[in-house]
Amino acid sequence: VIQICLPLNALGFVYREAKDALVNAEKLFQLLREKPEIDDPPGRPALHATHGEVTFENVNFGYEATRPILHNVNFRVPAGGTVAVVGGSGSGKSTLARLLLRFYDVGSGRVLIDGQDIRSVSAKSLREAIGVVPQDTLLFNDTIAYNIGYGRNGATMEQIIAAAKAAHVHHFIDSLPQKYETPVGERGVKLSGGEKQRIAIARAILKNPPILIFDEATSALDTQSERAIQAELDQLAHNRTTLVIAHRLSTVVGAHEILVMERGRIVERGTHSQLLAHGGIYARLWQLQERTEATAQPDGTVQLMK
Ligand code: ATP
Repeated sequence: VIQICLPLNALGFVYREAKDALVNAEKLFQLLREKPEIDDPPGRPALHATHGEVTFENVNFGYEATRPILHNVNFRVPAGGTVAVVGGSGSGKSTLARLLLRFYDVGSGRVLIDGQDIRSVSAKSLREAIGVVPQDTLLFNDTIAYNIGYGRNGATMEQIIAAAKAAHVHHFIDSLPQKYETPVGERGVKLSGGEKQRIAIARAILKNPPILIFDEATSALDTQSERAIQAELDQLAHNRTTLVIAHRLSTVVGAHEILVMERGRIVERGTHSQLLAHGGIYARLWQLQERTEATAQPDGTVQLMK
């Protein structure tokens, strides 16, 4: 057996160092707390998310005027469908999510939900229509019930428990001494990455939004928990328009379309089998992952068995 250490970060996005994951973990959630840099005057009509179809139309964007980030991005997530975005660090994946949540406005082009330009509706109604399952949920310093119930104003205890059951976290909560009244967060009980993500899923189930953004965990979860969580997410995404920011190729296989991003551009797109047949970047990364998945190390290196 020869051990070859490959710096996978350099190759792209298959695995990352645990340290990186911790930094990235908070990103999408943080953006929910960021002060949006948008114009949202009172009196805007509410979004009517009837089907939840999402369209990015010729989108160009930069956080700073001098540094363009996204270049002519076009894609459509059909109502109830799933689009997965893959690409190296900094390629612009999370930026798509931020634009959809309207934390920033596009430089040019349009983002539409069911034909409505998201700039023409109230930001509150837009965000009510979108559920976010971040990589690593930062929980509030409050009870588990509060953290799940946060998904929907005035949720009853029955609804909270039903959501926890659907996210397969009820048994765990029930085993805690204070059950749903157990404090979590910095001062509360410590939860594993998988438990936290399940609470985020329960919260999203309770919110029941037509559109879902799922920022996939990197190395925060072990493979077994990852597979289990995947089943819950598949259920949550069923019949819901879903944008997945994917870090593992194995989870994008069923997507209606996979977008491969590089430096703010979609450089390849198609279904899993189309992209494999195309024999480009995606196909190469897939082969690499196939060979290395079982032996990937938590520090981002890979052992190849020879
Ligand atoms: P990762 O896989 O590492 O999460 P990503 O593909 O999601 O990466 P983005 O977060 O979309 O990448 O970032 C795209 C580019 O935009 C990067 O070059 C990043 O430095 C830049 N960027 C992101 N957020 C900001 C910000 N708030 N201000 C300025 N530049 C930013």
